[in-house]
Amino acid sequence: MEENPRKNIGVLIGNNDLFTLMDRAAALHGHYCPGLALGVMAATHAMRSLQADSDGLDDLLAIVETNNCFSDGVQFVTGCSFGNNGLVFHDLGKMAFTLAIRNGKAVRIFAIPGSRDYIRSAYTGFSEQYKTVVIDKDHADNEKSAFKHKGLEAARTVLRLDMNKIFKIEKTEPLVPDYPPSHESFICEKCGEETMSTRTVSQQGRTLCLPCAGKPVNTLSGFGISTIKEG
Ligand SMILES: [Zn+2]
Ligand SMILES: [Zn+2]
Repeated sequence: MEENPRKNIGVLIGNNDLFTLMDRAAALHGHYCPGLALGVMAATHAMRSLQADSDGLDDLLAIVETNNCFSDGVQFVTGCSFGNNGLVFHDLGKMAFTLAIRNGKAVRIFAIPGSRDYIRSAYTGFSEQYKTVVIDKDHADNEKSAFKHKGLEAARTVLRLDMNKIFKIEKTEPLVPDYPPSHESFICEKCGEETMSTRTVSQQGRTLCLPCAGKPVNTLSGFGISTIKEG
């Protein structure tokens, strides 16, 4: 094993090899689609413009503005992920993200207004399949298979489009969160599970995790950031 597990990805970014990068990103995303292709395209452009790389130690941050397909392309290419805290989510619903080197430069890359029409006019059939499978939730095998086929076709087409007609890139000075804190863990006195101290509450002299205390929980899901109450 290589000490830098992203060495090959760095080479692909250096070569602007969008097709191989999308192929790798699809292993994370599960399917090919225009959104993934656009995320790969935008992230590769941002990484090249900052000459950045990520070692997953919080010095490179991707601040994404949407939690859809686009952001998986961004996570894979930038190496800023949910698990290494390099990914910051601003729940804005925009196809845009900011790449920031801690204490260094940052760029925001965002879709040019109207570019959606340019993108959609490039491929055929995917939008219809998207409606059937994703919006209308028809997950019949033949519909899902058509979605995957059309998705791959559309994603490849998108990678050949003129990026300058899709995205704009601007220098920016984002608010960057501090290095993530590390917290001690407590044992919840009801369920017995080890819980980060900041996610426990004291109730009638007992230290409890949030669900055991009946407290609401902040949740990131397909609905964005919301609060739910378990049980
Ligand atoms: Zn997708
Ligand atoms: Zn508990």
